[in-house]
Amino acid sequence: MNFLEERIVKDGIIKSGNVLKVDSFLNHQMDISLMEEIGREFKRRFAHKTIDKVITIEASGIGIAAFVAKEFGVPLVFAKKSKSINIDGDMYVAEVESFTHKNKNQVIVSKRFLHEGEHILIVDDFLANGCALQGLISITESAGAVVEGCGIVIEKGFQFGGRVIRNMGYHVESLAIVDAMDAESGKITFRAQD
Ligand code: 5GP
Repeated sequence: MNFLEERIVKDGIIKSGNVLKVDSFLNHQMDISLMEEIGREFKRRFAHKTIDKVITIEASGIGIAAFVAKEFGVPLVFAKKSKSINIDGDMYVAEVESFTHKNKNQVIVSKRFLHEGEHILIVDDFLANGCALQGLISITESAGAVVEGCGIVIEKGFQFGGRVIRNMGYHVESLAIVDAMDAESGKITFRAQD
């Protein structure tokens, strides 16, 4: 098991509805040493790529992506959830359905912060059905920027997002892939990775 899988086994809580709660170390209370290690691991996995900018989505992606951006020495841009119906032409927009809240949000990135030809690393905390990632890919490509890869902290491999995004040809690196989890026994099975 790698450092993250060990932590998930120790402190993760399996909830009903295929939700894994990691709020004691990742997305509510945050273990900063673990975040640093996550940042270093993504730098190692995407070391061969040119990265100009890291992009994520608010809210829980921001903390993690900040450490990744620091490792690459580049800015972090996060897509904002917007309730406004009248979004002006200064924004790139995508519609994203929230896996955890089951509602739809428009997410926006200002055209000032994403440019044609930039090399982008997309980062998020979870990959489930892939809506968040598809929204970020769509925004990046609307700008004429290049998706160099997607860095996911925890992929739920029993949901379809990872397969869909990889089949679209994107390079997805997930630090932990949960292939099965059982709320009753608390057992988590990880996919073997190199
Ligand atoms: P997707 O868009 O791939 O269906 O879901 C990914 C998004 O939903 C992530 O940005 C994450 O915030 C949230 N999410 C999906 N599954 C889980 C989960 O099991 N636990 C937590 N805490 N968040 C999740």
